Amino acid sequence: MTQTATAGQASVRTAGHANTDLDVFDVLIAGAGISGIGAAWHLRTQCPGMSFTILESQDGFGGTWRTHRYPGIRSDSDLHTFGYRFKPWTGAPIATADKITAYMGEVIAEGDLERHIRYRHRIDSASWSSEQRLWTVQATQLASGESITLKARFLWMCQGYYRHGQGYTPQWPGMERYTGQLVHPQTWPEGLDLSGKRVLVIGSGATAATLVPAIAQQCESVTLLQRSPTYFITGRNANQLAETLRELDIDETWIHEIVRRKIVHDQAVFTRRCESEPEVVKRELLGGVKAVLGEDFDIATHFTPRYQPWKQRIAFIPDADLFRSIKGGKAQVVTDEIDCFTQTGVQLKSGGTLEADIIVTATGFDLSVLGDVAFTVDGKALDFSKTVGYRGLMFTGIPNMAWVFGYFRASWTLRVDILADFICRLLKQMHESGATMVVPSLRPEEADMALRPWVDPADFNPGYIQRGLHLLPQQGDRMPWLHTQDFPRDRDELPNADLNDGALIFK
Ligand SMILES: Cc1cc2nc3c(=O)[nH]c(=O)nc-3n(C[C@H](O)[C@H](O)[C@H](O)COP(=O)(O)OP(=O)(O)OC[C@H]3O[C@@H](n4cnc5c(N)ncnc54)[C@H](O)[C@@H]3O)c2cc1C
Repeated sequence: MTQTATAGQASVRTAGHANTDLDVFDVLIAGAGISGIGAAWHLRTQCPGMSFTILESQDGFGGTWRTHRYPGIRSDSDLHTFGYRFKPWTGAPIATADKITAYMGEVIAEGDLERHIRYRHRIDSASWSSEQRLWTVQATQLASGESITLKARFLWMCQGYYRHGQGYTPQWPGMERYTGQLVHPQTWPEGLDLSGKRVLVIGSGATAATLVPAIAQQCESVTLLQRSPTYFITGRNANQLAETLRELDIDETWIHEIVRRKIVHDQAVFTRRCESEPEVVKRELLGGVKAVLGEDFDIATHFTPRYQPWKQRIAFIPDADLFRSIKGGKAQVVTDEIDCFTQTGVQLKSGGTLEADIIVTATGFDLSVLGDVAFTVDGKALDFSKTVGYRGLMFTGIPNMAWVFGYFRASWTLRVDILADFICRLLKQMHESGATMVVPSLRPEEADMALRPWVDPADFNPGYIQRGLHLLPQQGDRMPWLHTQDFPRDRDELPNADLNDGALIFK
């Protein structure tokens, strides 16, 4: 790795991003979402001499928070932990997309990262050469259609886990006959006028739960149609501890750290309780819903999931706005299955029909592994599903590459920070030892290790993971081959992970 300041700065483009085949970066970061911007911040801070560039196919930063523009778009986990470790979050815990991108914008400005980002650059392919010890990356400059070539010593993949261009819409019989407007929240039409419209929102996840109260006042009616219910946590959009510490005039940096620790602690307790006393937790969660909707509402049908708490992500519903919309008669919920679409709505399996001028399919994402980039390693096409993850971060047979895949049940960004610490430690060790290649490899005693799916479907089973599990890498049955999805464990283990235990081969 070229870690001198001169080497680093030599390949950084300051303006215009003129492209030549001579661009060789120490690190190429794919994506300018919360992961990519976090990666760049840590790289600048922890490996200040390294050169890097970020390629982002959209026309700005933000990733998820730029792509999704449906009414009400907001986080479903708290921003104290969805925010970075290094920059205090001072607003309400649940935040809208514009507040999240404003926060990311401050990180970019404070870290002087903007000049490293090349927007509207879609990475198409990445080829590793063990001879050159380099990745050759082909990207399309979307403004001109021109293809450019960059070279990098290390790929830090921060491209997320789903296709940004379009969401997932199941195919129901008769969809083609529907004469109303079909909308997916991921590609929400700008200026869509809902006034006087009967809107049907299909889905039961955080997106549907956010959208329904956000549009309830504008449209004539809004109906949430779900096949099966989901758990939600309701509460005030405020953090009591943060408020108390602010009253005491405590510094925001301290508040951030203390509140994060408290949230992580509370979540660990909650996760344990979901394992040890799921029925009690279930009663508590349903109690929150009942408190708003009242005893007479059919909570058993509409808000009592068939799975135990924590098998899917539990969205936080600030100020119970979804339930207040239903209680106030502005929205209704129907739990049923679609038999087929009609010209004017949907026919339900139970026999009823729902009429709608607009149908919103809040039915989730289309999983995309590695950003649809065609990877080759020494001329051989990469089959990602055949690899085994090293700590869910690097992959057997893929040199000099890491993928930032965050937490499902805790804030994604908690992992962005700790993976960055690990990657920077790795890059520094390579620089110091003169190694130019690192590749995870199973040791002889692990050759027969039982392999498991990337995520255990019995433990966590949202639709996009189930649909795409066969595309994802595998994990082993012991460290360092586990993908734990456990922040407290990662937080304790990753900083002490032995880079020289033989699972990472350096050359
Ligand atoms: C509506 C919604 C709400 C969510 N709320 C939460 C929440 O509250 N808490 C939580 O923890 N998680 C939440 N998530 C999960 C969320 O996606 C992650 O937490 C996080 O935003 C992912 O960040 P990322 O940077 O890894 O990926 P993304 O946000 O997906 O960003 C990846 C970026 O990479 C770019 N990219 C992809 N492929 C290429 C390519 N080939 N070339 C160039 N650029 C490429 C994309 O354009 C995109 O900008 C939510 C997800 C959605 C969709």
